[in-house]
Amino acid sequence: MVQLQDSMCDLLIVGAGPAGLMAATWAARCGINARIIDKRGTKVFNGQADGLQCRSLEIFDSFGFADRVWQESNHMIEICLWNPDETGRIRRTDRIPDTIPGISRFQQVVLHQGRIERFFLDSLAEYSDIQVERGVLPEQLDIDHSRAEDLDAFPIRVKVRHLSDDEATPFQHSTNVPDGLFRSSLAKDDTDDLIRKSRGKNGTTEIIRTKYMIGCDGAHSWTRRQLGFSMEGEQTDFIWGVLDIIPITDFPDIRMRCAIHSAESGSVMVIPRENKLVRLYIQLTEVSKNGGQVDRSTITPSIILQAAQRIMFPYKLTYTYCDWWTAYQIGQRVGNNFSSSDRIFLAGDAVHTHSPKAGQGMNVSMQDSYNLGWKIALVINGIAQRSILKTYQSERRRVAQDLIAFDHRFSRLFSGRPAKDAADEAGISMAEFKDAFEKGNMFASGLAVDYGASILVAKPGDSADQGDGTDVGPQQTNGSSSSYSTILKITGKQDLATNIKMGMRFPSFQVLNQADARPWPFAHFLKSDGRFRIILFAGNIASPHQFQRIQTFGEDLSGPDSFIHRFTPLGKPIDSVIEVLMIHSAPRKGIELLELHDVFHPLDEREGYDYGKVFVDDESYHEGHGEAYKGYGVDRERGCVVVVRPDQYVGWIGEVEDVVDLGGYFDRILIPQRG
Ligand code: FAD
Repeated sequence: MVQLQDSMCDLLIVGAGPAGLMAATWAARCGINARIIDKRGTKVFNGQADGLQCRSLEIFDSFGFADRVWQESNHMIEICLWNPDETGRIRRTDRIPDTIPGISRFQQVVLHQGRIERFFLDSLAEYSDIQVERGVLPEQLDIDHSRAEDLDAFPIRVKVRHLSDDEATPFQHSTNVPDGLFRSSLAKDDTDDLIRKSRGKNGTTEIIRTKYMIGCDGAHSWTRRQLGFSMEGEQTDFIWGVLDIIPITDFPDIRMRCAIHSAESGSVMVIPRENKLVRLYIQLTEVSKNGGQVDRSTITPSIILQAAQRIMFPYKLTYTYCDWWTAYQIGQRVGNNFSSSDRIFLAGDAVHTHSPKAGQGMNVSMQDSYNLGWKIALVINGIAQRSILKTYQSERRRVAQDLIAFDHRFSRLFSGRPAKDAADEAGISMAEFKDAFEKGNMFASGLAVDYGASILVAKPGDSADQGDGTDVGPQQTNGSSSSYSTILKITGKQDLATNIKMGMRFPSFQVLNQADARPWPFAHFLKSDGRFRIILFAGNIASPHQFQRIQTFGEDLSGPDSFIHRFTPLGKPIDSVIEVLMIHSAPRKGIELLELHDVFHPLDEREGYDYGKVFVDDESYHEGHGEAYKGYGVDRERGCVVVVRPDQYVGWIGEVEDVVDLGGYFDRILIPQRG
């Protein structure tokens, strides 16, 4: 076999599903020399995951492609609960909102995984030369742990094989209907991806040396097995069939998301989809009653349909078009370890598996690598200290554990038989199910994620601790005015912004641009470009006293010895590592932008002033008042300062005068670039 010349890259991503593509997207935005390989010859074209939480849409918006998803997807507005009445006939018993009103500017939508992958691929092409290398199988992995802390080292060595077209084509075990292992094309812009571009490397092998690696290679992760890491948890007895069909039915709520519990035949979850499709998640009581591992090859679309027909009786259900189908036995497991020497990481299904119906799989998987991608990129670019990488496991393993606990509760309630009456203890109370559904909605939105205290989240607790018990302290001598002991003690002041929670994502309210009066959701300006942001709630700057406080803050931040200068590479714009944004609460018409300190409207020789950094919480001409200060829970007179991480999670909150602490927050994370 021909062996190609050894190659080098900074980051190797194994697996181009949602988790891998998210990691690659960060690499593209942060200018990292990354490669992404996948053993399959083509992308996913239909089926698999389809639910998108509000948080995932917010993330897509920060990368600039949420509008494509919003337009193509089906929007989930209401959930209908159907339960058996005293005669055993199913009836609609409740309607609840699908997304809790007001928690995000987006609501939950559904669009299949293949389209999401399409948008990622287009974004990669727009911002970088990174292309998914398909039909590439990793065969050997070695890591030199002794060189893990050497910033210049390439301690990881991966031997890969470029597969032949036959080897790279997934096995199709059904007849003419695409199942979970075969993909067909529906979308015009996917046509190019139907044919693998082998670049003439078929049948060759190659050694890739890399600084960092992320295993995003799914539930049967090869990377995880090479590292010897295991999954903790259990296989359940519940078997679920999934049908993506255009239904022909007299069931009245077929265009609503429905949870249907029949008296004796099991449950169905109805998910209305794009292009008239409907996804049915169906519990297969016939095949699951003996327990144990089930031979899924015996399950066919007609078995799944018949089960649905029994559950939805007396309503009729049939179809002529089936887009995709699959069958699952649910395992609820979490990886015991998410990283090896903070050089090789695991993300997505590679470290957590659970049932699909709560629509979490793709979301939590993407959000793993969303948490990790910017950290690796900033370390590779020499901007951030390696110690931030430890927070990946401490932040995301807890989310995975919460997810499994949620799924366990939800699956039990969904899969159980409805109680006949209050005395029926073996049955599931439908009141309990509704309650769990409503409470679960907050978790399922992705907005309940609350990262613990660490060097990145200065909330009460030992903020110099990584969250896993490791005390890191400052890693460099950097000439900071903050002493080591000051650094250890940094804790943000939560009470200054009661609705901006340290450890949670920064919420969004409407504000107006000071320069042109246009209303915007503020989160629109928190782009995923690898920058930290200092958000100055400047308060009522119409008051001379408050104006002076803000001018002093501007001077502290912009002086030649300021921490912003210290962490900005020579020759780069002053806002390239840490950007300062302002929201004030004075009447817009009484404030002149250029009278504010220069740091709030930096001047570029070629492009003039930056008019995109100062915003105001005021009445708009056409879209009302955003009431942002009220929404954020910040004092309109005095304001406060908030640090937002590159992934929009809140790191620190303080007074306008707390500049030493603010600098201390960054001292723990970033690497001085000058002096
Ligand atoms: P994946 O999407 O699994 O991506 C992993 C990628 O790694 C794949 O492209 C694979 O080809 C590649 N890969 C694997 N091994 C290697 C290797 N050794 N070398 C190189 N590349 C490798 N979720 C739902 O919410 N609803 C559903 O109905 C649903 N149905 C599903 C049906 C199937 C058949 C599967 C597999 C998953 C389904 N899921 C569903 C789960 C959902 O797709 C995942 O949670 C989500 O895709 C996880 O993203 P990921 O990137 O971590 O992994």
